[in-house]
Amino acid sequence: MKHIKNLSLVLLCIDYRFWPQALPILKEKYGDFDLIEIAGSSKNITSPLEEEDRITLLENIGLSIKLHHPHKLILTNHTDCGAYGGSKKFKSQDEEVEFHKKELINAKSIISKKFPTLSIETELFTLKGDKVELV
Ligand SMILES: [Zn+2]
Repeated sequence: MKHIKNLSLVLLCIDYRFWPQALPILKEKYGDFDLIEIAGSSKNITSPLEEEDRITLLENIGLSIKLHHPHKLILTNHTDCGAYGGSKKFKSQDEEVEFHKKELINAKSIISKKFPTLSIETELFTLKGDKVELV
């Protein structure tokens, strides 16, 4: 198998409003990547519905590392994520953005314990009208 230099691994939510626009944004910023799409993205690390969800996700990260040797993991979340209860759960957009930024840092620290040599970046997407943007 040919290994791509500077390959990344991206964790992304399934939400149809975000991923079609998020993929080219991530591709432009990070180049080629393996992709794991799962509802709620980082929530499966920080507060999974079932412990098995966290295990499966960590196993998928481990498989990408073993098979394709990504040099970096990009953890993403997005605002109005149904798995977190959506924007209506928050008093303001600022509160929601702060929540997701903390959530991403928390997920990063959990993943770092399991994969200590893996470099991890975090990104948060939001919607302006129907346009997806990085926060
Ligand atoms: Zn979502």
